[in-house]
This record gives sequence, structure tokens and C-alpha cells, in this order.
Amino acid sequence: MFDKILIANRGEIAVRIIRACHDLGIKTVAVHSTADENAMHVQMADESVCIGPPSSHLSYLNIPALIAACEITGADAVHPGYGFMSENADFCEILQQHNIGFIGPDAKQIRQMGDKIEAKKTAKKFGLPVTPGSKGSVDTIDEAIKIADDIGYPIIIKAKAGGGGRGMKVARTKEELREAYYSAKTEAKAGFGDDDVYMEKFLDNPRHIEIQVFGDAHGNAIHLGERECSLQRRHQKVLEEALSPALDSKLRKSIGEISAKAIREIGYKNAGTIEYLYQDGEFYFIEMNTRLQVEHPVTELITGLDLVEMQIKTAMGESLAVKQKDINFSGHAIECRINAEDHRSFIPCPGTIEYYHAPSGPGVRVDSAVYTGYKVPQYYDSMLGKLIVYANDRASCLKRLQRVLDEFIIEGIHTTIPLFKNLVTNKDILEGNYNIKWLENYLDTNYC
Ligand code: ADP
Repeated sequence: MFDKILIANRGEIAVRIIRACHDLGIKTVAVHSTADENAMHVQMADESVCIGPPSSHLSYLNIPALIAACEITGADAVHPGYGFMSENADFCEILQQHNIGFIGPDAKQIRQMGDKIEAKKTAKKFGLPVTPGSKGSVDTIDEAIKIADDIGYPIIIKAKAGGGGRGMKVARTKEELREAYYSAKTEAKAGFGDDDVYMEKFLDNPRHIEIQVFGDAHGNAIHLGERECSLQRRHQKVLEEALSPALDSKLRKSIGEISAKAIREIGYKNAGTIEYLYQDGEFYFIEMNTRLQVEHPVTELITGLDLVEMQIKTAMGESLAVKQKDINFSGHAIECRINAEDHRSFIPCPGTIEYYHAPSGPGVRVDSAVYTGYKVPQYYDSMLGKLIVYANDRASCLKRLQRVLDEFIIEGIHTTIPLFKNLVTNKDILEGNYNIKWLENYLDTNYC
């Protein structure tokens, strides 16, 4: 049993985790940088520890400071949230050496999936459909040319240690390949300290559909359906929904079962997400995230489950309380990521929120960490929070989202709310007729 959990994160996800802990009667410790002294997670936690200056490397990514904060406060376990330390296998091991629990999978599983080449090999071995591509890293340009000739253009070059949509390069011809190969390697080295890259077939018009999976330490594994995350800008998700308008129940069942079976055989513990591209009725594995996702609330709303609570309980060694046959999907949920950015240029817009009014009423959930007078710091990502709307069906959910966006008032800084107001009345969005290219095309056409 955990009596006290330290949340190694900030922003809306730290607040989300504190809420789950308090619902379970577990005490909480917030950590924060000097820039986050007045942050909501610090005010909501039972205790807080300042772990360093604003730069994430010196605070939220500072392992000695995090371990010291656990020791000082006597925390039994750490919830890493997403980003920061959430997929850091070394951190997970160091916690273990200090007898502190990590709310997530084992270091071994994090490592296996964090290395994207290894992850793809594992996915293939356990029966998941993968994108055709190189068997491992592509070490020379000659090898790259040969593989591209085999699988056919266009191809995409990706960093083995990549993440956050960075360092990916597309080549449509042999001429483009040379430049793409070297620039991908240079970016990978600069961004991730590892210049290994691999290649796969570039799919022209796929959707991004991911399956939420969950495993426990007793060999149980389930899936909680899919999330449609195709609305992306620069490979970053902007709006997510569950379930996907592109799948029928037969496809949903088959990809869900294949995914759950794989994690059962791997012996995966805790929450995970298997990301696929979906095109012409086929799924292609792209990666597995071994943590809670930003967009987890849409799954919570259609299943009635609390994923953070499930994470805490499985990390304490409990069996999953639900079986696959108990999981029903009901209604529809949509999440909008509300960022402190200009909605046309997407330039981050830190500053003081002069006035904040969150929407409420039936079918509305706001996971945020801001308030009137809050100063959005310049040091971290620009997400202020998430607006999640739920209704009995997709059409009513979109209608409700229109109402709710009109209620949402944030003054003093620019936000992405106006973009969502435009999207929510768009014909393609209303019809569920979009893929991962759609938003970029829409922005090019309408926002130039
Ligand atoms: P990251 O870990 O950096 O987010 P992913 O492998 O998950 O990288 O890919 C992120 C996004 O890049 C996907 O959601 C998709 O939009 C695009 N992408 C990745 N692989 C392919 C591919 N083979 N073909 C087309 N688009 C791709």
C-alpha cells in the first residue's frame, strides 16, 4: 500500500494525479522548479519540495533532486505523469534501488519500447502488424538506397531514440533520400544524443489510431478501445476522440484483442498505448508508449474507468479489477488541447492570465492547472490544459463542444481556443472524414 506518492511532473497532469491520489486517500508530494512556486499542483499537494531552477534539466529531469525529495518527504512511490521522467528506465531502476515504487512498467519494458527499433522487432515477434521497413538501424547511405528500392518510395527516416514527432524525414525519390538521410542523422544526434536511424514505408494518407492497454503483475491484460488522434500539426496531436469514427466494432475488437494478447505475452505491467497508423483497412504499428497519455481522459469517459487509479493500484501489486468482458464503450468523447499559443502562427504565448473562466455543465471536464492571475512560464511546453466533452453520440458531442468552447474564456494571453471553434463546425470534422494530413492542409488553406 502506498501512503504517500510524489508526483514528478507539473501542470495539468500533476493536478490530475494529485486528484486521483486524494480520491484514494493517499497523501501527495509536489515537486517544482523556482518558476513554478505558485503553480496549482504545488498548492493542491499535501507537501511540496523545490527541486531546482526553471530549466527542466536542473529540476524536473534532475534525478538526484527527485530522489532527495522522496527521501526528505518519505514518499513510497513516484508517479511520473507523461514526458519528463515517464519513460526513463534509469530513473525507474534508481528508484527501485532506493526502495521507492515507480508507477509504471518495469525498467526492462521501458527500455524495450523506448528503443524504437527494438520496439518494432518486439511488436513483430508478438504478432502486431508493423510498417514494412528496415530490419534495424540503417548505417550507410548505400544501405538506405537499397532498402528504399526494396520497399518503394516514399519512405520515412526516423530516429531510433526519437520522440515527440522530431527528427523524422520523408524522401519521395532517390535524390531526396541522400539529404533526408544525413539531416535525419544530424537531427537525431543533436536531439537525442544518438544518431542511429531506421527506415519505413511512408504511408500517404493514414489515420493515427492508438489502443489503450493495461496489464498487471498477475498475467492479466486488457484493452480499453481506441483513440483517434489524426488531427495533428507537425506530428503533434491537437484534438483526440474516442472511439474512432473510422472503425467498426469488428475491426475494433480484432485490433484490440491482438494488442492485449501481445502485452499479455510480453508480461507488460501498468498502462500503455500501442500506436498504429491505419490506412485502407490495415493497421501498422509505429510505437508503444509505456506511460499515461495526455489524451487518456477520452478513454476514461467512454469506459467509466479511472486510469490513474488503475495505475496506482496495479503498481501496488493489485490485480486489474476489470476483465475484458466487463468493458463496455458508451457514448463519445472529444478532447481539445488548449495551448498558450497564437491560434494562427502557433507561436507560444507565455504571460499572465488576466481572467479565466472554465466551462461546466453536462458532459464537460476540464483538466487544467491555470487560474486567474496565473503567470504562464516560458520554460515549459505551452499546454494550459485540456477540454474534454462527452455525449451519447459523436454528433451530440460535437454540438456540445460548440457550446462549451463559447463558454471558455481565457484573457491576457493567446490560446488555441479560436482554432477549435473553427474546427468544430467544419464539414470534414463533422463527418469524421480526416487523416493525419488533414489539419496541416486545412491550416495552409485557411490560415495563410
Ligand atoms: P514520435 O515518437 O516522435 O511521436 P511516431 O513514430 O509515433 O514518432 O510518429 C509520429 C507521427 O509521425 C505519427 O503520428 C504520424 O503522423 C507520422 N508518421 C510516423 N510514421 C509514419 C509513416 N510510416 N508514414 C506516415 N506517417 C508517419
